[in-house]
Amino acid sequence: MSNRPAVARVAVPGPLPAPLDYRVTGPVPATGARVRVPLGRRQVVGVVTALADVSDVPANRLRGLTDILDDQALLPAELLDFVLWAAGYYHYAPGEALATALPAGLRQGRAAATSRKTVWRITESGRAAQVDALARRAPRQAALLTRLQALGTVSAAHFPDADGDWRGGLTRLVEKGFAEALGVDDPGLIQGERRADTRLPLLNEAQAAAVAAIHDARGFTPLLVEGVTGSGKTEVYLHAIERALAHGTQVLVIVPEIGLTPQLLDRFARRLAARIAVLHSGLAAAERLDGWLAARDGLADVVIGTRSAVFTPLARPGLIVVDEEHDASLKQQDGFRYSARDLAVVRAQRLDVPVVLGSATPSLESLHNARRGRYRHLHLPQRAGGAAMPRFHLLDLRGRPLQDGLSSALIERVRAHLDDGGQALLFLNRRGFAPTLLCHECGWLAECDRCDARLTYHRHRRRLHCHHCDHERPIPRQCPDCGSLDLRPVGQGTERVGEAVQAAFPDTPMVRIDRDSTRRKGAFEAQMAAALRGDARILLGTQMLAKGHHLPDVTLVAIVDADQGLFGADFRAPERLAQLIVQVAGRAGRAERPGEVVIQTHHPEHPLLQVLIHAGYRRFAEDALLEREAAGLPPFSAMALLRAEAVDATAPRAFLERAREQAVETGVNGVHLLGPIPAPMERRAGRYRAQLLLQAARRADLQTLLGRWASRLGSLRESRRVRWALDVDPAEML
Ligand code: ADP
Ligand code: ZN
Ligand code: ZN
Repeated sequence: MSNRPAVARVAVPGPLPAPLDYRVTGPVPATGARVRVPLGRRQVVGVVTALADVSDVPANRLRGLTDILDDQALLPAELLDFVLWAAGYYHYAPGEALATALPAGLRQGRAAATSRKTVWRITESGRAAQVDALARRAPRQAALLTRLQALGTVSAAHFPDADGDWRGGLTRLVEKGFAEALGVDDPGLIQGERRADTRLPLLNEAQAAAVAAIHDARGFTPLLVEGVTGSGKTEVYLHAIERALAHGTQVLVIVPEIGLTPQLLDRFARRLAARIAVLHSGLAAAERLDGWLAARDGLADVVIGTRSAVFTPLARPGLIVVDEEHDASLKQQDGFRYSARDLAVVRAQRLDVPVVLGSATPSLESLHNARRGRYRHLHLPQRAGGAAMPRFHLLDLRGRPLQDGLSSALIERVRAHLDDGGQALLFLNRRGFAPTLLCHECGWLAECDRCDARLTYHRHRRRLHCHHCDHERPIPRQCPDCGSLDLRPVGQGTERVGEAVQAAFPDTPMVRIDRDSTRRKGAFEAQMAAALRGDARILLGTQMLAKGHHLPDVTLVAIVDADQGLFGADFRAPERLAQLIVQVAGRAGRAERPGEVVIQTHHPEHPLLQVLIHAGYRRFAEDALLEREAAGLPPFSAMALLRAEAVDATAPRAFLERAREQAVETGVNGVHLLGPIPAPMERRAGRYRAQLLLQAARRADLQTLLGRWASRLGSLRESRRVRWALDVDPAEML
């Protein structure tokens, strides 16, 4: 008798509720190693989650391992356990959860080794070159040269914007002799350097107190840093990170997609004498793998990345930071629907390290946790460096003439700020020319055939485009119902407002920043660079422009249409709108010159707007928490949504009815079931959608039910006729 384990439990990709058992005949794989195993008629890559002596599967039905891909554990035990815990919490297949957590290269079976890659290094003539001379003809090259002069070398990790054609720009710089491209075996880390010429701002009292609180934290300590826009939160993180680095530990920094800008990376690289791994979706598989390995092996001191970076292995963890913790992009909205913010807190607990959540507009969940004493609450009530908070004005649009959505009062404010030498930022969260096309003769509206939604009118591209399913068609010349030629675009998108602004200010350079205007490679960077350099005086855009950016010359922020979000169906709509308004407003007056925010609305008496502008986000949040409490909504209850969709209109309902019965049979102590009801937009991309809402005053009751029930859903006959997904702690009710 030998006592070597005979069975490996392997998490394989696929909708299986648990790992599968395989017979070990040859060498024994390590727990946390990848193996190749048969699954049906295919061979797949899975991860060994445990070894055992015996299996419940009869010996004659147990299949053998095909191959062991890693000599040792690929994932440290801590990370493996964490991912499996998360799979359990979200009731998602563990093999799929692992596949989401691992870099693509690893889940395809690629060797866990660093690859050869290119880095670009500045040359002598590059150091001496005049950026200004280049800026006029080749703004992108100029921007790249500026970064190279500051950083010395760059690699793919420096360019989080997946669309940017930075490679082309660097190639031009190499041709000019300003840079050289080197092939190296190197994990592609950013070598940060505390440069002598960067003077550290003297922390103000609130910042110093926040830094001290983070520094004093021992072991697992969640801290919520609530700091108004421009209050120096990033400065606080940088100090806390420096302390953690000085103790020889690693820091994981999670930011929303839009927050991971070259601006932020350069700021980190100039401040931290550390090796920085950047993990973002624009990286090639090999580059992403390199960053992951460098973090695991302790080569990287700081890991900065978007959502999925929460699954980065860390050799010597010391601190986790989640910036813009309220941001919706921290929650994955398909597949493995995890919240990177919530998981960051769990991970910090398991690692026994402090976790800092920061925002100017904290989520109601985090504020609630702070009020209950679960999180330490740190405040930065003032802007840093002497900048004042902007003044707010509501522009009552009722009965006023509007030109393409702009009131004359707004135009006047823009003119006043431009005359004073400021920049004006106009925010409208709707791209395209107009949200729909109307027949003035018979009332026909351009609607998507595949969604319960209107088609957006894009004048420049001459298309009608559905923003929900991407369906496009040419603009009709005549009304398809009555044949009239009098078709009119109704409402405003950025394209239309942009034309109106240009008509009002024909001599003032403007940039429009939205998904349409930045489609071309490198366009986003070029336009942001023009905004930062001050070449553009008017900036118009969607939320691409609204978040995170530090634009010191912007003195006026105008919210062109605040009414859009005031009456949303989702119970989180007011919270999202308040966050958006405060974040956009926060772009105004961040430097010496005072800022002004004007909000155009037909509902100036609306309590949300009144509270926000007179009392601020904090007061709004307190009122909203009272309302949530009275209504028994999160964070005063726990929710899960079972969603189903199918081309057949009746199938989702049939599945959800059966699922509901099954839940009731399972026992629903303390859990309310609501539905099935149609989704707010019932048809999308040709599929009918419905949902069943589960709500419990106590999270434990919800988890007990899900634990018994979720794994049985797949066995319902009706489940085969739909696509279904369970969303625990849903961020959107759509
Ligand atoms: P936030 O992250 O809260 O938006 P930042 O950390 O980006 O704020 O700070 C906003 C601006 O104020 C930056 O230009 C930063 O360099 C500057 N700043 C931060 N802290 C101080 C300080 N204590 N004194 C002077 N300037 C500061
Ligand atoms: Zn008509
Ligand atoms: Zn559509």
